[in-house]
Amino acid sequence: MKKGVMFMERIKGKSIFEGIVIGQPYLRRKKVLNIEEYKIDENDVEKEMNRFIVALEETKSEIRFLKNSLKGKINDDELKILKVHLMVLDDPVLLSEINSGISKEFINAEKVVDTVVGNYIEMFSKLKDPVYRQRALDIKDIGEKLLNHLMSEDRELEDLDGKILLAKEIFPSELLKAHHKGINIKGVVTEYGGNTSHVAILAKALEIPTLMGVKGIKQMDWDDIIILDTRKENSCVIKNPSAEVLEGYIAEKKRLKQLNREYEKLRGLPAETADGNKINLYVNVGGNLDLGEVGEQSPDGIGLLRSEFIYIDSEFFPSEDAQMGIYERVYNEMGGDGSKSLTIRTLDIGADKNLPYYEMPEEENPSLGLRGIRFTLAHESIFKDQLRAILRAAHGKNIRIMYPMVTNLWEVEAAESILNEVKDDLREEGIPFKEDIEVGIMVEVPSVVLLADVFAQKVDFFSIGTNDLTQYILAADRASSDVSNLYDGYDPAVLRAINMVSEAAARHGKKVSVCGEMGGEPMAILALMSFGIFDLSMLSAFVPRAKSLIRKVNLQEIKKLKEELLTSRDSEQVKEILKKSLRGKL
Ligand code: PEP
Ligand code: MG
Repeated sequence: MKKGVMFMERIKGKSIFEGIVIGQPYLRRKKVLNIEEYKIDENDVEKEMNRFIVALEETKSEIRFLKNSLKGKINDDELKILKVHLMVLDDPVLLSEINSGISKEFINAEKVVDTVVGNYIEMFSKLKDPVYRQRALDIKDIGEKLLNHLMSEDRELEDLDGKILLAKEIFPSELLKAHHKGINIKGVVTEYGGNTSHVAILAKALEIPTLMGVKGIKQMDWDDIIILDTRKENSCVIKNPSAEVLEGYIAEKKRLKQLNREYEKLRGLPAETADGNKINLYVNVGGNLDLGEVGEQSPDGIGLLRSEFIYIDSEFFPSEDAQMGIYERVYNEMGGDGSKSLTIRTLDIGADKNLPYYEMPEEENPSLGLRGIRFTLAHESIFKDQLRAILRAAHGKNIRIMYPMVTNLWEVEAAESILNEVKDDLREEGIPFKEDIEVGIMVEVPSVVLLADVFAQKVDFFSIGTNDLTQYILAADRASSDVSNLYDGYDPAVLRAINMVSEAAARHGKKVSVCGEMGGEPMAILALMSFGIFDLSMLSAFVPRAKSLIRKVNLQEIKKLKEELLTSRDSEQVKEILKKSLRGKL
């Protein structure tokens, strides 16, 4: 690390999960791999081959994930390189040479991969045609990825324990692996990735303070101690903090800890306004399926189970039985005695959420493409497996179904007829299930807002997904840092849309909740309450703060904000009104 005079520097990024971390950075660089050669025992050939196959599959998943998540963000040539990488990993000649090195010459997998890959690189780089020389670079790249998976991932994970990870990008599998192994990654700073990328959703679910979109991470020198302040208003990482700044942050952390202790005291108390109105608080569950504390933190249940994480965390599409087992476990861990409800959202993949084992179609605009219910309606057997699992798990339980990304009534009717077919099958097979299961939809697409009164007659409940609704109303990609100034849920256009849905639901006596990020944000909570929305679903980490706020406000006072908010001209004005009302209540 370069020493000398180092100035404090605040580097801005985009906050993904809020928090303050003071700690040691772990800068992930390209590793220098030290490859040893050793003979393996004849009896260990199968074990060694398995190690190689696991590394091969992990490498393929990594590339597939990268390819899918960078679609639309990098140019076609760069995408083609990733496709070539996948082809090389399936090359029968390359694979058979590696196989023979392990199984016939009894050499360890790392050395065989290194040698075989090295031979190819040499062969291609000698050729004059620049296309082949490019191929040599591709193979070099793939060889490094394979060796990384074979050799050092676990060791690196251990080194990461208790540190702040700085990297160009990270993969969901890395966070999940660390989580499963009990490795505590205190914070994450990356160059790539947006607020709602899959890694981001996982970082939130695991409650890891995370900052994305920080340029030039690898080119910088990092000190021994850095401060990561991902609170929305600050969203920065501080290099070489002065003693004064460090002290300030230590004090701030103490203050927040104290605040949390205050919140903790509210644990057993209801989320009731000062004038006696109950607000139902639910939690969103995604990557943190081992619920731990979530049960206790969810006063009224789980408002959004992002079931895609079950699929993402699997080797292949999870079976009906496997899914049913998970839904039942989640319900029980939530403390399901009937008073709490579990809302299971059906598979919501597409856009930036992809399955490592499934190739999504190439689309120019994946956010406007085959995602959510559009995908499941196009893949009926996947949909049916999930519906069967939910219906069976729901037997005798307070479990509801919710469809994501609904655009028109036809989709709801198509899903309804598939659900009815599934019910008929179960009935015929004599398998118990929940006959009268409630079915609701996410409101994420403007067409549903405009026709909310029509949809309200068709479904049991609405849950407003403000993350997507904001992006589609404002035509601003939720994952792009270039238009993040436009992507703003406090824009009066978004607020009017939310209010329209709430009014339509009320007219038809249907329930409405908010399960997007806004549901847990103090300013938004006031706005939503003023629109008559009393069911909020949020990350469990935000429940204590929401409860504390709700207990300090007076609903009759809050209701007076409605007109002012709906007639505001921009989000600045909206925020000013809400900040004023929040004063002294946090
Ligand atoms: C939303 O869009 O607000 C939502 C809750 O769904 P997701 O963030 O999983 O797309
Ligand atoms: Mg959504």
